[in-house]
Amino acid sequence: MAEPLQRIDARLLIPGAGDPLRDASLIVQGGKIDWIGPAREAPDVAEDARVFSVPVLMPGMWDCHTHFTGLHGAALDNAMHVPMPVAVARCVGDASRALDAGFTSVREVGGYGVYLARVIEEGAMRGPHVYAAGDLISQTGGHADLHSYSLGCVADYAARDGWLHTCDGEAECLRAVRLQLRRNAKLIKVCASGGVLTEYDDPRHQQFTDRELRVIVEEAARADRIVAAHCHGKAGIMAALRAGVHTIEHGTYLDEEAAAAMKEAGAILVTTRFTKVRMRDDKHLPAYAAKKLAVTADRHREAVELAIRNGVTIASGTDTITSGTDTALRWGLHAWELVYLVEAGMTPLQAIEAATATAPQTLGPQAPRAGRLEAGWDADLCALSANPLDDIKVLADPGNVSHVWKSGRLEKQPAS
Ligand SMILES: [Zn+2]
Repeated sequence: MAEPLQRIDARLLIPGAGDPLRDASLIVQGGKIDWIGPAREAPDVAEDARVFSVPVLMPGMWDCHTHFTGLHGAALDNAMHVPMPVAVARCVGDASRALDAGFTSVREVGGYGVYLARVIEEGAMRGPHVYAAGDLISQTGGHADLHSYSLGCVADYAARDGWLHTCDGEAECLRAVRLQLRRNAKLIKVCASGGVLTEYDDPRHQQFTDRELRVIVEEAARADRIVAAHCHGKAGIMAALRAGVHTIEHGTYLDEEAAAAMKEAGAILVTTRFTKVRMRDDKHLPAYAAKKLAVTADRHREAVELAIRNGVTIASGTDTITSGTDTALRWGLHAWELVYLVEAGMTPLQAIEAATATAPQTLGPQAPRAGRLEAGWDADLCALSANPLDDIKVLADPGNVSHVWKSGRLEKQPAS
């Protein structure tokens, strides 16, 4: 059934990119923004139109780095302890919490998102638009491997639709990309350095050879997909950029030279401050991960500050990875990334742009026309009861998000 026409009047309208407007109106029809401009110039709407009056209106936000894992702790080994149907069922509540927090889209970079995207699209569960990568792909012994398990266990987990995938050599890398495309992945996620949550690898080391990375990027590009590269160490960042990846995730050891290389390549940094700040509160964090976190957390803050200072394009992403309502890195807290971006040197308006207008660009050719309040663009919107330009923390409390529209459909409104 077609949604009735809707007009939203806002005392303050934050368009995603560009300057905010005072006393503006926006008309939604057929899932798109039909008109936007000063309230006094708004065209008359039919009697059956729904009219809303809100203090603040802005685009629905994006979290560009999430994982639907259904795990209660961040250690990747936990993936082996939870039956997959249980893990996926836990994600149903997670997706709903993202929407209620004002997040109408997530980019999911390793997890069950490829399946949940389909169920949400079918209308069988509530959630944001999900742009998913399918598996987390790394070399053997890398960040998608479970180092204490036998190779057979890890391979079996991958073969049974688990989301951790190891491959080596050009032929296996090629096949790894094709397997994700077969699941309708909208981007490809690789690990170009070691990680914090895996046992024996070092975040500073490059993973995959230049040639393996290039094969992955070229195969993805043939299907109009970009590659997102998990990178902590500089060697991995530089190798990923040489191979032509589109986004650098984390970027912990980014320095002046790497920042310049990112700008030259037109690559986007997805920051994940949220997880670096909060991971120490994860009750299930193994000792090896706590140790690596202690070494990288401060360096990561410096890297994000440097990227902001040097004008690297930044998209907001949290690395939300745990499930449920009482875990440290849980779904629904996504706007804390904007708080941390402001702490690292952005203005509130810049942080909002990183979570709206800039965010869809992290999908390259798969980007929808979303993240901006502009005529003809998707009507993914959220309304707020207070002004986030005065205090960015307004966004971090879902209680301040009064309304959420996804493709023009009202998904959240105040209880009457
Ligand atoms: Zn991640």
